[in-house]
Amino acid sequence: MTATVIDGKAFAAKVRGQVAEGVARLKADHDITPGLAVVLVGEDPASQVYVKSKGKMTREVGMKSVEHRLDASVSEAGLLEVIETLNADPTIHGILVQLPLPDHLNSDLVINAIDPAKDVDGFHISNVGRLATGQKAMVPCTPLGALLMLRDHHGSLSGLNAVVIGRSNIVGKPMAQLLLGDSCTVTIAHSRTRDLPDVVRGADIVVAAVGRPEMVQGDWIKPGATVIDVGINRIDKPDGGTRLVGDADYESCAEVAGAITPVPGGVGPMTIACLLANTLTACCRANALAEPDTLTV
Ligand code: NAP
Repeated sequence: MTATVIDGKAFAAKVRGQVAEGVARLKADHDITPGLAVVLVGEDPASQVYVKSKGKMTREVGMKSVEHRLDASVSEAGLLEVIETLNADPTIHGILVQLPLPDHLNSDLVINAIDPAKDVDGFHISNVGRLATGQKAMVPCTPLGALLMLRDHHGSLSGLNAVVIGRSNIVGKPMAQLLLGDSCTVTIAHSRTRDLPDVVRGADIVVAAVGRPEMVQGDWIKPGATVIDVGINRIDKPDGGTRLVGDADYESCAEVAGAITPVPGGVGPMTIACLLANTLTACCRANALAEPDTLTV
């Protein structure tokens, strides 16, 4: 079998198009422009690239984009003051604090200072609790993107066996909650899981969110299963230079799976698309307007 490649780049472009339509409607019908604020602390090069690309895509869908770049030495009180100002700003509907933060800042405290209604990353403890209890939440962007791709590919996920490898707060745990919400039978695997290949062999859906290059092998995959590869790992090429690979060994998995997301070009592009979708959703909720039902759960 050769797997169908789930094209995350094309799907993300479609999602951004739907967001742009929603933004245009809000402007035309209600004179409201959704606004997203990104807060970046310090000079981390990867974070700077992400923030720049987020700002560009935010403007492209017609939203207001605001960036706050703070010095790496900013105090916790200084950062909290910026968040308070954004919480109170009625033109800002989404706030994202780019992680990781410098060591002297307490990430949990900072994230939990964001108004949960504006927490478009979905990391505030109140949104985590809402997702876990099946209430309307802001949902973390990477797992939301993976879920939207799975729904698009499978239609209903009800009754499917899903194995999520990884239990981080950012990916693994919310991914498992989302799959449970769509009535999958969910197993969460992690570094202490015994006989991981055998656990994975029972899965109709495998979500790999481990951070270990090409760990999941083709002979772990049930024939016809769907592999969602969340991993982004940069490895050395034998002839010099580097390349990006996922947490699944693409070649061997694609021979057995029914469908697979590539790296790059799979889950990655969906993350920013879902950030924009979450900002639109937050704006609709803040104004008590109907939210686009295909862009959230
Ligand atoms: P993380 O916080 O490091 O969590 C990794 C998880 O994998 C942990 O739960 C860990 O288990 C588990 N794990 C580690 N080694 C394992 C092993 N040998 N067998 C089974 N499980 C193992 O990573 P993360 O933030 O969730 O990110 C995971 C991957 O997704 C990374 O490659 C990251 O770059 C990528 N990512 C991509 C996007 C995107 O936009 N596409 C966004 C976020 C993250 P323990 O809990 O037992 O330690």
